[in-house]
This record gives sequence, structure tokens and C-alpha cells, in this order.
Amino acid sequence: MTTLRIAGGRVLHPDFSVTTDDVLVDDTSGEIVAVGDVGSGDETLDAEGCLVMPGLVNAHCHAAMTLLRGYADDKPLESWLREDVWPVEAELTDADIRAGTELALVELLKSGTTAFADMYFSMGEVAEAVAEAGLRARLGHGVVGVGKDEDAARADHEESLSFAREYDGYADGRVRTMYTPHSLTTVDEDRLREYVPEAREAGVPLHYHANETADEVEPIVAERDERPLEYADGLGMLGESDFLAHGVHSDATEVDLLAERGTAVVHCPASNMKLASGAAPVPAYREAGVTVALGTDGAASNNDLDLFDEMRDAAMLGKHAANDASAVPAEAVVEMATAGGADALGFDAGRIAAGRKADLAVVDFEAAHLTPTHDAVSNLAYATRGSDVRHTVCDGEVLVRDGEVRTLDEDAVRERAAEHARDLVARAE
Ligand SMILES: [Zn+2]
Repeated sequence: MTTLRIAGGRVLHPDFSVTTDDVLVDDTSGEIVAVGDVGSGDETLDAEGCLVMPGLVNAHCHAAMTLLRGYADDKPLESWLREDVWPVEAELTDADIRAGTELALVELLKSGTTAFADMYFSMGEVAEAVAEAGLRARLGHGVVGVGKDEDAARADHEESLSFAREYDGYADGRVRTMYTPHSLTTVDEDRLREYVPEAREAGVPLHYHANETADEVEPIVAERDERPLEYADGLGMLGESDFLAHGVHSDATEVDLLAERGTAVVHCPASNMKLASGAAPVPAYREAGVTVALGTDGAASNNDLDLFDEMRDAAMLGKHAANDASAVPAEAVVEMATAGGADALGFDAGRIAAGRKADLAVVDFEAAHLTPTHDAVSNLAYATRGSDVRHTVCDGEVLVRDGEVRTLDEDAVRERAAEHARDLVARAE
């Protein structure tokens, strides 16, 4: 075993206490060996002046949508998807998706994110990019039934399942998979009845968009006389390892149902605010015992993948919506971005403790906007930016050292992505 000692920093513990301690990591098992006075390691990573925290988890993302960053803004979900996003997505090639995903991975790693969930297309390319970049991911081929005949829809579901079967455990187990029907309104009931049991058989979780907008809830209620998550439950789509994105328009019955089933919710406050979708009932979820994670959603509706931004947005939106300054406090958003995300994705990470996966972010607190440190958790939630991350470690490997990504060539990735984005948009017009 080769060990790495993350030395001289302050450490954020699972109970939110902060101590000055070292963290010892075994890069063979990829686990944290000890926290405290750990002796020397084979290698040292300097954390002087820094806070060592669990790596952030972006639990709902469409990574390659970085190519559409700033392409179409200031529209509600439905017209944004139909008029702008779907026509361009129809032109996407494998190479576009590879280029956009690599751009996303650079951004994720540099801002301290060590794991993410991705629902998109050409997922083999995404899995390869994740393998190369060194972080952890839960990946699924997104299935959209709109505008497809039965054969095409079936082929789409089959592709999602075959990707899930083939790539689960890929890249030394850093890549896990999932079955990802886009949402309860964009995929047919018959197909869900057919394929959800197959996903169960394959042993992969489900991830889908649910209750994102009021427009998505109303037709289900009108047609079926039940709430969308009751409909999902009837289809067997609320499993213990499943996690759904958004959950903005969930009523008390649905909140209780999620708690009972053990299904997690990924809160995406920036995307919800930008598309004016509403504010998720985060305090109600947490009170009921629902696992809540944080996600940026795609860069086209955010427009960045910085989870520090997302933490602040979650806290601000939560307070604003509840008209209560104590709603969604600092500890809650830090927990959502770390332990909550790891739990939702099914990774044994998100907490700094011996035996957990060594997925860590080392945040430089020696900055004007982080001085003084009365409360490190407050600084993380309200004042830190992704660019304050000095080192990122995943699975015991140093992926970002002193702000520099070691597994991808940042300049080349950025140039390639800009080129692909330009050509893609030109083809769609
Ligand atoms: Zn989404």
C-alpha cells in the first residue's frame, strides 16, 4: 500500500466539528485509513491554511450540456426544451458528447467535486471520460419517448438497460450505472411497465426527473386522479436505491411516500430558479427523513457546475420560499452536497472517517472573502467559491493539485469543447 498524508489543515468531521488534524489515505484501497495524528505517509499533500472536507457530490447533471452553456436562456422549461435544447441535442455526435463531458469534468474537479450522476446520451463516451479523469460517477442513458414510435422507444429503453448492465463497476468500480427514463411525462406508461422490472432484475437504481414544474404535475393529476409520485409508486419506481431529480411540486402525501420508500431527492435550486419552476419543499423532505442531495442540473440551465454556488442557492432559496431565515441552514446544505449526495448515489463516501472512500476536497481558506473563520461551515455554505479549491482527491488519487488538473489537459479540453460547441450549433441552425 502507498499512503498519502494530507497534512496541516483543518478537517471537517461528519458531525460538523472542525479540528486541526491530518488525514491518511491508502491509494491502493482508495480509502481513508486514519484521521488525527497519523504519522508520516509515503507522500504528502500540503493542506496548510486549508479546510479538508468530503469531496462534493453533484447528484443530478447532464455533463455534456456544457456545450450549450449560454446558448438559450431566460425561457421556461417546456419551451426551452422544445425550441432550443432538443433540436440541438438531435445533432449531437459521440465526439461532441466526449468533448462536452471532458469540459464538465475539468470544471467539476477544479471545484472539488469527486462524484456526479449523469443522465445523457453516448454514455460509453462519458464512462471513458470518467475513467480517464479519475472521479466517481453514476451514469445512465436518458430515455425520451416524445416523438418516437413504439420500436424506436423500445430501442431507447433497451439501450439504457444494456449500457447499465455493461458498464456497472467499470473503471475499478468508480463507474456505477442506472436506468434513466427522462421523466414521468416524457416516457410512456406501457414502456415503464415493461422496463422498470428489467432494471430491477439488472440490479441498477432508477433516476428520473419528477415534479419539476407545475405543468408536469397537472396532466398526471387530471388524467389519473393521483399525484405523480403515487403514479410512480404504482409503477414500482420508488425504490430504496432510486433517486429523483427536482421534486419541486411534491405535496405532503408525496413527501411521506418518499420517506416511507427510502427514495432520495436531488434538489437543483439554481435550475429551478432560472427556469422559474418553483422552490422544492426541502425543509419538509428533511423533516420527514427523506435523503436530500444537491445537483446543478445541466450547465444550460445553471449555468455552471460549481456546487459551492449550489449550496448557497439552496440556502437562500429555502429561506426565501419559507419566509424564514432559519430554514435550510448552513449545515443542511453542506450535508446535502456531501453525505446526502453520496447516499443518494450509493457511494460509501461523503464523510471524512476511517474506512470511507478517500474522496476529498481541500479548500484554501487563506483568501480575503474567507477571512476570518468564525465558523468554517458558514464559510463553506455562504462564502466559498469553487475556485477556492486547492486539491481534489478521489479514490485516494490526487486529481487536482494546487489548482491544476492532473488527469486531463485543461487547455486542450477547453479548446476542443469550444470548437465542438460552435460546430454543433451551426449544424442545428
Ligand atoms: Zn435534468
